[in-house]
Order: sequence, then structure tokens, then C-alpha cells
Amino acid sequence: HSKDDGGESGGDTLIAARVRPLLPKEIEENEVLGIRVRPESGFADVHELRRKVNGQSALSSSSFRLDKVYGPNQTSKDVYNGLVAPLVPWAWGGGISTLFAYGQTGSGKTYSVSELERLAAAELMRGNLEGNRDVYICAFELVGKEAFDLLNDRRKIVVMEDAFGESQLVAAVEEKPTTAEELISHIERSMSFRKSAPTSKNDSSSRSHAVCRIRIVNKDVVDAPDGLLFLVDLAGSEVDRDTKEHNKDRMKETRDINVSLSTLKDCIRGRAMWNMTDGVATNKRAMNVHVPFRSSVLTKVLKHVFDLKGDRYCRTAVLACVKANAADAGPSKNTLRYAELLR
Ligand code: ADP
Ligand code: MG
Repeated sequence: HSKDDGGESGGDTLIAARVRPLLPKEIEENEVLGIRVRPESGFADVHELRRKVNGQSALSSSSFRLDKVYGPNQTSKDVYNGLVAPLVPWAWGGGISTLFAYGQTGSGKTYSVSELERLAAAELMRGNLEGNRDVYICAFELVGKEAFDLLNDRRKIVVMEDAFGESQLVAAVEEKPTTAEELISHIERSMSFRKSAPTSKNDSSSRSHAVCRIRIVNKDVVDAPDGLLFLVDLAGSEVDRDTKEHNKDRMKETRDINVSLSTLKDCIRGRAMWNMTDGVATNKRAMNVHVPFRSSVLTKVLKHVFDLKGDRYCRTAVLACVKANAADAGPSKNTLRYAELLR
């Protein structure tokens, strides 16, 4: 589907890219800019200098169109306002909201998610949103098919399906903060378990998905469904991961990551199609939508977002993170291509 033909789904699934600035170290190493964004039209242009066999170089350019693009000079607050702000009141009101950060290792996923989480936490706890609610948070990391509790010393937790077909995180710690400061301190504590390793393609944070789930319980209405806000810092999207790796467990983990990222793409696209048809299953198009959320652990634990039987309207935002330098044009193009396919 395309939003350019006046479709109304634009508000439900927003796909954005953020180009992070060159870091001081990269400038020192004479890295040059390879990406331009055109915020008015939503284009990101990748310019790549290719060396040819005869020693000459040629400039090749590719353009990608998304719902929103953020350049190196734009702040996390800009990204929050354009992409995340609508997710917060939606979850507060009992809806399901999800933000995914996608991109290669070092592209700014964790930086962006942590800033956006802080801004979302402040908004949730500011007391400006209407109604009485209790807010709960849990945070976990998915490595291959295993889950670890980021609010409880990275202890292993079990992902199970209960009798109702709901994915349950058995024994995951859920905290109940009452102020923005408390909520933010839980978020920072969960992040500290991932930050310990240096950013390299083999550190644990580049090989795992981190999920922060904020659950909002309506105290005014009996039996109202819980609002859910998921913030997901995805595993690094690099395709060249472990080409020299001979360790069997690692290779299996790599396969799991690749499966989870491609399943996620199919699920987001299917979900967007379903939202677009208002979830009316009598509509032929909606009946044919396939959302294969059972194909990966990541999408299984995000079952609420992707199970169409749940029949709940979802708001989803994707932030595709890319480095600004020309040398990384290849991986940046892969990231932007993935993002473009989600629209
Ligand atoms: P990832 O999680 O995708 O591996 P990180 O979030 O760890 O990447 O970012 C890599 C580095 O770039 C970190 O040092 C981070 O502080 C820095 N960085 C990322 N995004 C920005 C930004 N928008 N502005 C300034 N520095 C950034
Ligand atoms: Mg990271």
C-alpha cells in the first residue's frame, strides 16, 4: 500500500529515519558526510563514492522516501514531537503503541531510544493526561530464543504461552513507579545492563533486542483493557554479522536475529494493512492479511501488537537509524530500504 494516494493509514504506522551526526572521532578520521535529508518531502539521499576497477571513482546516489526524516542537526525532542508524542496518549487511553529503533550497530538506536523513553516517561507522569491510571514497567532483553530481565540483574525469564494463547513472561519483575523520576530511574537501570559492553558488532547489545514495556491500568473503568507502550531497541541489522564465525551457538543466534528482523517487517506491514481497513474482517483485503507473529520470539512477545484476533487498533512508529558517513553508505542503504518497505 502507499500513503501517497491519500490513504488514511498515515497516522497509525509512521516510518521515519534519523541520521546521526558524525562523532568527533569520525571527524578526526576524516570521515565525510554521505547522506542528505529533505524533511519537507521525506526523502533521504545516500551518496556513495565507488572505486571502479580502472582506479577511477564514480558517484552513485539512491533516494528513499519515508514519512519523516531527521537530519544530524535535529534533536531527540524533534523526533519525539514528530514520531513518539502521539503514541503516549494513545496508550494512556487504553490503546497499544509501539516504537521500534532499527539500524546497524553504532547508528544511534540506543541513544535515540533512551532519549525518547525519557521524554515519554516525563509526559506520562506529568499529570496532564486525563484520568486515574497506574503505570507499570518491565524491561527485558531477547537473545536468540532466550529472555533476560533487565530490571532484575539480567536473570533469565521464561517466555510461555498460557491457556489463553497469551505470551507471558514468567517471573519478569514489574515495577510500579509513581513519579517521572522513578520511571526514568527504572529505565536507566535497565539500560545500564546493556551499556556495559563497548559498541562492537559482537557485543551483546548488538545481538539482542531490548524491549521496554509500559503498562497503563485504568482505575476509573472496571475491566478496561490495559494500555501498552512498547519501546524496542532492536538488534543490529548488519548483514555481514559473523561471516567468520564458526561457533554453532553464535550461528544459530545470527539466524534467529535475521529471522526476527524479517518477520518483524512482515508483521508491521500486515498490521498496517489491517489498521487501514479498520480491522473489519468482512473486508476481503483485511481477511487476507497475514501477520506471522508466531515465527519469532520477538513478535511473539509483542503478540498484543500483532495478533489480529485481539482486534485492537495499534499505533506503530519505526525509527530507522543511520550513520551520516559516506563509508557506511552500504549498510545505510539496507536500513533505508527496509524502512521504505514498511510504508
Ligand atoms: P546503536 O545502539 O545503534 O549501536 P548508539 O546509540 O550506541 O548506537 O550510538 C553510537 C554512538 O553514537 C554513541 O556514542 C552515541 O552516543 C552516538 N550518537 C548516536 N546518536 C547520536 C545523536 N543523535 N547525536 C549525538 N551522538 C549520537
Ligand atoms: Mg545499541
